[in-house]
Order: sequence, then structure tokens, then C-alpha cells
Amino acid sequence: MSDTLRSDVLISGGGLVGQALALALAHHGLSSQIVDPADPVATIAPGFDGRASAIASAIWRMFDVLGIADRLADHGCPIRAIRVSDGGKAGELDFVTAAADPALGTMVENRQLRLALAAAIADAPLVRLFMPTKVVGRDVDAHGVTLTLGDGTRLAAPLLIVAEGRRSPTRDAAGFAIANWSYHHHAMIGAVAHARPHDNVAHEIFFSSGPFALLPLVDDEQGRHRSAFVWTVSEKDGPAFAKLGDRGFTAELEKRAGNALGAMELVAPRMTYPLGFHHSARIVTDRIVLVGDAAHGIHPIAGQGLNLGLRDVAALTEVLVDGARLGLDLGDAALLARYQRWRGLDNLMVSLATDGLTRLFGIPGRTASAVRRAGLGAVQRMPALKRFFMDEARGEAGDLPRLLAGAEI
Ligand SMILES: Cc1cc2nc3c(=O)[nH]c(=O)nc-3n(C[C@H](O)[C@H](O)[C@H](O)COP(=O)(O)OP(=O)(O)OC[C@H]3O[C@@H](n4cnc5c(N)ncnc54)[C@H](O)[C@@H]3O)c2cc1C
Repeated sequence: MSDTLRSDVLISGGGLVGQALALALAHHGLSSQIVDPADPVATIAPGFDGRASAIASAIWRMFDVLGIADRLADHGCPIRAIRVSDGGKAGELDFVTAAADPALGTMVENRQLRLALAAAIADAPLVRLFMPTKVVGRDVDAHGVTLTLGDGTRLAAPLLIVAEGRRSPTRDAAGFAIANWSYHHHAMIGAVAHARPHDNVAHEIFFSSGPFALLPLVDDEQGRHRSAFVWTVSEKDGPAFAKLGDRGFTAELEKRAGNALGAMELVAPRMTYPLGFHHSARIVTDRIVLVGDAAHGIHPIAGQGLNLGLRDVAALTEVLVDGARLGLDLGDAALLARYQRWRGLDNLMVSLATDGLTRLFGIPGRTASAVRRAGLGAVQRMPALKRFFMDEARGEAGDLPRLLAGAEI
């Protein structure tokens, strides 16, 4: 039909994962059309997404290949060490990188990620963005997928990639079964300026009321030292903390930080996110695949949620680019089965490990705390185990897609 716009793939959801995927595909000559009901101007406005993400170094290598790292050059703060403690007791476990080794990760504010991706998409003729727009019809048949937009425009491709985040309606309508539960926790997030430099150290402090993380950010234009915080509290305590004025809230932050960074001042609006787990064992069905939070959602305790989604991006790009070079239909079931095998297990392992960690460090009482401290001390004394955890943090473990090794496909 003449009024149907065609591309190699359709992407439903233009968040961080959907946009990164479109760029990775475009970089290798594959075209995409992204649909999303969100207003693209609103999603890059200050205050829309106050989170900051720890981007694993393997993911950063993909950003290098795709030209996104250059756009983030002044905004990424390398993490050179991570200090982990149970209840703030000093020096229980620390992961420190040697000067010649890659950083454990790079902290970037999500708004900067969104700005960098939006600028890269504006320069990518193979990506067509339909935002804000609503899909009013979806038709999947033996030849491909057609989406009908609110204004009657029809978009068609052999494959639909669903990147709609946690509450993905297309995933649910397509019949993917989801396991999910709530942690009955809220994450309060934001950024603080502080008196002492962070020296590129991230702090992960486990209190029985929930984990507390301080993550280094680049200094602001006035040279103030800054860190992001992710402070997890139980659902029932959330409203009381939300009611605290900025001064009271900052005093609580300083107390939890154990004065590691000196006096603090809030420099970004605080936001609260409810925390839950969800997981789809199947991430592929007829001509439809899931990526990012549409496929899996985990506790932010280890800062791995977006990294998992970007690993989906790297693997799916490799599968589709290899398929296109062989002249295959990009919705071919055997091709998509490779993506299922590749990402299904890694997603499950990381999700279960994160869930276990969340539960282990949430058990109250002195005995549980003593067991955890013994565990942290044991890892501290075992270099091989420490290296394993550092490779996991860098995203170097497992069967790496070529983009994560910093190579073109
Ligand atoms: C407090 C907190 C801290 C975190 N910290 C980290 C961290 O340090 N490191 C890390 O790796 N991860 C972190 N995460 C996880 C990370 O933020 C998510 O994994 C990531 O944002 C998921 O991206 P996404 O693009 O898959 O989904 P989303 O960001 O949810 O994007 C989904 C997109 O789909 C669109 N959409 C919704 N419905 C439809 C529809 N019907 N049709 C079309 N489009 C639709 C939405 O408008 C949106 O643009 C954190 C999460 C939380 C809550």
C-alpha cells in the first residue's frame, strides 16, 4: 500500500533502551521507526528523570562505537572504587581498580543520557521518530507487523521490538507471561553537593531498613562536588520521609553517609520510585521481541537494570545485523531464537542474583548482620572472587556481544 511506511524494524517505546537500539541498528545500516506516546521535549526537560545510572564499562565501549560516548564526554564520572559495608561499618569490602585498568563503571545523569541519545537520533537518517503518537491498531501476520497510528498512518516491518518499560501494554496483549512481585520498598533518589571530594568512590551501605548508595557525579559548573543518592526505605516509612523538609532530609542523608563526604546540600529535586521485580522467561514470540524493562525489572541495589537492557540492545543488534547480511527475514523464528538463547539466561541470572542480594541484606537483626559481615570479609580476602565481582560490575562476564567488546559487528 502506498501510504504504508516501511522499515527494517518497528520499535514500540522510545525510552533509553528503545532509542539506543535504534541507533545501534542505524549504525549498521538497518532502519527503524520508533513510536511512543511521550512528548520528546518533556522527556529531556530538567526534572523529568532525576535518576543517574552507573553505566558498566562494557556498555561504555558500545557507546564509544556508536558515537554516544563523545556526546557524554563532560558528563561521565568514572567509578574507580566501590566501598560496600553492612550498616556503615568502615572498610568491610572494597573493590579498587588499578590505575591502568578500566573503571568499574561510569556515572551519568539520565537527563544527559536522554539528551545525548536525542541529539544522536536527530543525526541518524535511518531512524524515524513518531513521538508523541498513539498506536490504535496492531496486525501481525505471516509476512510482518503493521502498526496503525492515531492519524491513520501505517508503519510496517518484518519485526516489532517492544521497549515499552515495566508496564508494557503490547507485551501483555501479545500474551507474554510475567512473574512479578513488589519489594514493598520505595527508592528516594536525587543529587547532593558535598564539602569533600568523592575521589571517584561509590558507597553502598546496607541498612536493615534498606540499602543506601552514594554514587559519584562530575563536579557542577561552579566546581561543587556532587553525588547521586539512592536511598531505599520501606513502603510504610516512605510518606514520612517524603514529608521531611529539605534540611531535615539532608541531615538524614548525612547521617547515613557517616560523614564520608562532609556537609551536604540538595541540588536536584528528590523523586520516589516504588520498587518491584518482574521477569518474562520468554522474550520472543511470532515477529515480536522484548528488550529492556519490558522484559525484566530488578531492584536498583546493584545498578544493573539499564545495563541489562543495553546488553539486550547489543545482542539483538548483532543477531539482526548477522541475519540481514545473510539475507534472512528479520522476523524469522530461528533468528529470534538465537536472541532468546543469548539473553534469556543472562537476564535470569542477574535478576535472581539481584533479588537474592536484596533479600539477604534486608534481613533485620544482629545475627543476620554478623553473617553478612563475615561474607563481605571473606570476599575481601579472596582476590579471585573479588575479580569475579569486579568483572560483573564492568559487564565483562559471559558471552559478550561484539559491540560490548568495543568492536563493529
Ligand atoms: C531508582 C532507580 C535507580 C536506577 N538506577 C540504575 C542504575 O544505576 N543503573 C542501571 O543500569 N539501571 C538503573 N535503574 C534501572 C533503569 O532506570 C531502567 O532499567 C531503564 O530506565 C529502563 O529503560 P527502558 O527504556 O527499558 O524503559 P523506560 O525507561 O521505562 O522507557 C519506556 C518507554 O516506552 C514508552 N511507552 C510506554 N507505553 C508505551 C506504549 N503503549 N507504546 C509505545 N511506547 C510506550 C514510554 O513512554 C517510555 O518512553 C534504576 C531504576 C530505578 C527505579
